Amino acid sequence: MAFEASGVPNGDLKEVSMKLEGSCHCGRVTFSVESTEPVPFIRCYCSICRKTAGTGGYAINLGADHRTLKVKGRRHLRVYQAVIHEGGEEARHSTGQRHFCGVCGTALWLYDPSWPDLVHPHAGAIDTPLPKPRESVHILLGSKAEWVRVEGRKGDPRFEGYPDFSLKEWHQRHRRKDPAD
Ligand SMILES: [Zn+2]
Ligand SMILES: [Zn+2]
Repeated sequence: MAFEASGVPNGDLKEVSMKLEGSCHCGRVTFSVESTEPVPFIRCYCSICRKTAGTGGYAINLGADHRTLKVKGRRHLRVYQAVIHEGGEEARHSTGQRHFCGVCGTALWLYDPSWPDLVHPHAGAIDTPLPKPRESVHILLGSKAEWVRVEGRKGDPRFEGYPDFSLKEWHQRHRRKDPAD
């Protein structure tokens, strides 16, 4: 929808931005943000995503421009920084700040100050119709729960850990290849 509606011809790699509007379930927190990576294609099966936002055993995050994030109802926001235990190392706090509504618990977005220009809204919190992904990319499968059946299409890329490309690279590749629907 985003790309097609914007009329970007094939081969044009110019970034197309889409305004996303989102909200929590109880409506106390609403937000808007500009996104050049609005396709909900990446499924993260890690234990943090699964527990905090992963109804199907995974969560789907988008990529957006943090400088454009506007929030209403900020006082209801809560932030969770997961504690990570990694092979023998001392436990440490994840740098990822998972923002959610303190009233209804809706997972809203992830912000990591290590990448201050980016914010990653949860697809499920977005009210704007999102473009349908041509494929899903399944990541952190090494942390998947036993009961989760990985659904998707045959050729879907799958990774035990992190993928070897960024959200932005995926969007650029698909913007170039995919003809309009
Ligand atoms: Zn809420
Ligand atoms: Zn995850």
